[in-house]
Amino acid sequence: MGLIVQKFGGTSVGSIERILHVAETVKAEAEKGNQVVVVVSAMGKTTDQLVSMAKKVSPQPNKREMDMLLTTGEQVTIALLSMALIEKGFDAVSFTGWQAGIVTEPVHSNARIAKIKTEAIKEQLQAGKIVIVAGFQGITEDGEITTLGRGGSDTTAVALAAALKADKCDIYTDVTGVFTTDPRYVKNARKLLSVSYDEMLELANLGAGVLHPRAVEFAKNYQVRLEVRSSMEKVRGTIIEGEARMEQNLIVRGVAFEDEITKVTVLGLSNSLTSLSTIFTTLAQNHINVDIIIQNTTESGTANLSFSIRTEDWMETVNVLENNKAELGYEQLDAENKLAKVSIVGSGMISNPGVAAKMFAVLAENNIPVKMVSTSEIKVSAVVEEKNMLKAAELLHEAFELSKESY
Ligand code: ADP
Ligand code: ASP
Ligand code: MG
Repeated sequence: MGLIVQKFGGTSVGSIERILHVAETVKAEAEKGNQVVVVVSAMGKTTDQLVSMAKKVSPQPNKREMDMLLTTGEQVTIALLSMALIEKGFDAVSFTGWQAGIVTEPVHSNARIAKIKTEAIKEQLQAGKIVIVAGFQGITEDGEITTLGRGGSDTTAVALAAALKADKCDIYTDVTGVFTTDPRYVKNARKLLSVSYDEMLELANLGAGVLHPRAVEFAKNYQVRLEVRSSMEKVRGTIIEGEARMEQNLIVRGVAFEDEITKVTVLGLSNSLTSLSTIFTTLAQNHINVDIIIQNTTESGTANLSFSIRTEDWMETVNVLENNKAELGYEQLDAENKLAKVSIVGSGMISNPGVAAKMFAVLAENNIPVKMVSTSEIKVSAVVEEKNMLKAAELLHEAFELSKESY
């Protein structure tokens, strides 16, 4: 007998029919003799609708109350799925995040899981029950309800799989697996049979919304065997594991992209040893995540600094920099909005020096200006104008021949 964690995302539980269908999938796993823990998201677009209601009440809603509101979405799904299973003659029980023992840091809207007290779930499993857990939510040591960030139900599932030492964690979603790029936008995207934790981590961090980045982090750190698969079609999905077996050494495995990026430029920064640390410490203290950083020294001895942020943090960034202008000692602030980041990812890049050159050549030949660049051993990212994002992704997908079968 094994222990399986299954996770079903918003579209997969988007209607009563879908929930009944999910109940069949859960039932099939339980009938194989496995213990089953199921993590679910809020139904369909519920979370988006709750966010938009909150914004009508308050443009920048109080974060504690926002978590209180958003966690209601998942609570609807756990109860309905549990009822559906009970109706089918199975013993099922639903748990909110706190009932499931998911303890997080004391941070609202984007909390990290600190630990999982698994006793309650284990007790129910031992009593022969299927346990249905609300994704995306947890509780602080002080009893405050928190959420794990948008898309965080994946993280609930993988963290539970790690804590319970599950044999497998199946992420059921609205696509049949992890593709070479987002199949919703690039028609030649191809499903990968397997992908390594490191590649998946980069893809997820760089905008491939199919898995929450922290879910991949957990999977990697605790060696959880993950499969991303379809909740609608019974086909093989994508295995995420230590080494991608079939397609090792491929230079580029995938293309990821994300929009709503802003480039902030700080001109005339005093060129002292501490000016960079002061500016980024100030931004970090205000929870502003900075991505790509470029610094140039000018002839007059001052420095110009550019960095990219998510556009939603732009107003906050301007406020922080302006409020600390005297201490930071710069002359002028500029920003460029409506930018996007397009990235190529692949573990074979480490040993193939020409990859970045090829990427920039493709973009240049197609008149796509590159605003910023960043690289790591297994990725190259280029910031481009938002209007060029999908074209750039398609061109790179084509240039690196990602739609071709390679196994
Ligand atoms: P769920 O509600 O099941 O969590 P998400 O919408 O969060 O589903 O994630 C699935 C979506 O991720 C797909 O519909 C697809 O558009 C998007 N996606 C982005 N990049 C990729 C990729 N490389 N492979 C597969 N899907 C991707
Ligand atoms: N319901 C949450 C969201 O829409 C969490 C999730 O679906 O993973 O972001
Ligand atoms: Mg998701």
